Amino acid sequence: MPVSSPPRKPDRPTPPTRLISPLGLFIALAVAFFITRSFVQDVGAQRVPYSQFREAVSVGQFKRVAIAEDYLKGYPAAKVHDAKPQPATPWVASRVRGDNSIIPILEQTHTEFEAIPDGGFGDLLAVWVVPIGLAMLFWTFLARRAQGLGPGAPPGGVLAFGKTRARISMESNTGTTFKDVAGIDEAVEELKEIVEFLKTPEKFRRLGGHIPKGVLLVGPPGTGKTLLARAVAGEAGVPYFSLSGSEFVEMFVGVGAARVRDLFQQASDKAPAIIFIDELDAIGKSRNGGFVGGHDEREQTLNQLLSEMDGFDARVGLILLAATNRPEILDPALLRPGRFDRQVLVDRPDRRGREQILAIHVRDVKLGKDVELREVAARTPGLAGADLSNIVNEAALLAARKNRDAVAMADFHEAIERVVAGLERKNRRMNEREKETVAYHEGGHALVTSLMPHGEPVHKISIIPRGIAALGYTMSLPLEDRYLLTRDELRDKLAGLMGGRAAEELAVGEISTGAANDLEQATAMARLMVTSYGMSDSMGPVCLAEPRRSPFLGAQSMPTLSERVHSERTQQRIDAEVNRLLEEALGRARDVVRSHRDALDRLAARLMAVEVIEGDELQRILSEVGAVRADAPNMTGAV
Ligand code: ADP
Ligand code: ZN
Ligand code: MG
Repeated sequence: MPVSSPPRKPDRPTPPTRLISPLGLFIALAVAFFITRSFVQDVGAQRVPYSQFREAVSVGQFKRVAIAEDYLKGYPAAKVHDAKPQPATPWVASRVRGDNSIIPILEQTHTEFEAIPDGGFGDLLAVWVVPIGLAMLFWTFLARRAQGLGPGAPPGGVLAFGKTRARISMESNTGTTFKDVAGIDEAVEELKEIVEFLKTPEKFRRLGGHIPKGVLLVGPPGTGKTLLARAVAGEAGVPYFSLSGSEFVEMFVGVGAARVRDLFQQASDKAPAIIFIDELDAIGKSRNGGFVGGHDEREQTLNQLLSEMDGFDARVGLILLAATNRPEILDPALLRPGRFDRQVLVDRPDRRGREQILAIHVRDVKLGKDVELREVAARTPGLAGADLSNIVNEAALLAARKNRDAVAMADFHEAIERVVAGLERKNRRMNEREKETVAYHEGGHALVTSLMPHGEPVHKISIIPRGIAALGYTMSLPLEDRYLLTRDELRDKLAGLMGGRAAEELAVGEISTGAANDLEQATAMARLMVTSYGMSDSMGPVCLAEPRRSPFLGAQSMPTLSERVHSERTQQRIDAEVNRLLEEALGRARDVVRSHRDALDRLAARLMAVEVIEGDELQRILSEVGAVRADAPNMTGAV
């Protein structure tokens, strides 16, 4: 269970609901149908089991029986001489379709009977016409209301309806500038041109240059896309209109499109201006993907957006910015020239960028002398701006809770842990044996990772349960952000991942479910080595994965083996090769834990005692027992 790099925040889900969808309408109709139907059968009648009904028929309790397609209705005879329970009201029982066995009995007892034809006019009226009519009336009412025609609709038609509901927000000055943005310098550079244009449109107009109409900000959640859009408006000093894509999808059919129209109308009245559409993917999903039907609202909205984009004249100084973290699902029509033909990648910041972002967020925070933002940045690889802002906030809250005068480095450490690994759950009790297993498991990760020639330094081992899944974790941090990994480094990572299981085998004598996540990570990594990185000698330098990465996110989105692009036999060879890599890694991990059993025991015992071991203490323990890296200079002289 190592956390080699901090877990990512899951993408924010977009609310998929809409007030009324065709499916909803259908369900409503179906319900109405059944209610009305049983109403017709049951009105003033008592429902009884078929057996009881038949019994009543055979003793002649009914004067008349009506036989419908799927039910029987009996009208009680005036006088009954039997002691049996006597029907006071008509009885209704279900009938198996086509089962006429009741008829001979009816004839025997001289009961009058008749068939009720299904679909008779009365039935038809009650069962179909009335509910459908009601539904249609309701529907028309909504539609007319949306168009501002019906009673109670706000004056001004669609636009007004859009206006009253729409959370189109307009700010004449966002008060945000590029000074509030850090760590994404390339994106800022690209957007400066847009600012330039908004400030002095004449300059560009004069030379007839092509001004982009739409700029798509692409990047993982929390990296500052919204912030950037606001900063562009702030820098240019133009009004900022914004709307979130997910808000469209909740609306009635037709309203999303109306809002888009409204948005462009309002913005062009105030041009030069910025229009920002957040979560563009919520409306801009590819039109020919996904489920059949049920998407007419989104499609209408998208079409409206496309036509507005084609319609407006960029020279008035209107620029559309949009953000998405899933560019690969966007409808290609959105990316055509004249639409979002410019894409700006807003990526996660590197170490220096993180330091700068932290510096922005601590502007209003009182910091203690010992606080090193550099170190905070070094400990948070992979985190985005929003996470960093979160860490600063947590640290300030923690310091306040402890009644400190200033935020100390210790607060930052705690805040990092909270944000990175979820809240500490100290109160979760583990039994001693579980604790021992986890201690050996994590000790194994730490030992193997530390002793591999290319292992990353282990920064912290903990067996404090956190979050829901992890019982403990071993955190190894790269000294700097890495963009390339070599085969040897990957093989060492694999061995490190296997360290937990190897240690359990050796020390506890049993393997547990604790390694599930390690195995998952290791398998994924080995598979990539074989199919994407060409790192398997037997497969050779070939890409066997169908690259499904988005064109913008680069290495962020890994290629997956989504579609088979090779033969069954190749698949078997891939599997065998992946297996071989994993077995090899486990073998190497076993060798390490076996030959450093004393180190492993020391680590596990220490973990049991204090629950957390920091990186430097780990190094001390390892060198005390003479466990050193295979290729590292032997400092203690005792191997
Ligand atoms: P996104 O829209 O990409 O999901 P946001 O712009 O909403 O991310 O970021 C949320 C918050 O995180 C911002 O308001 C800001 O406080 C902080 N933040 C994110 N990225 C940065 C950055 N690059 N520089 C400074 N602050 C940032
Ligand atoms: Zn593990
Ligand atoms: Mg955002």
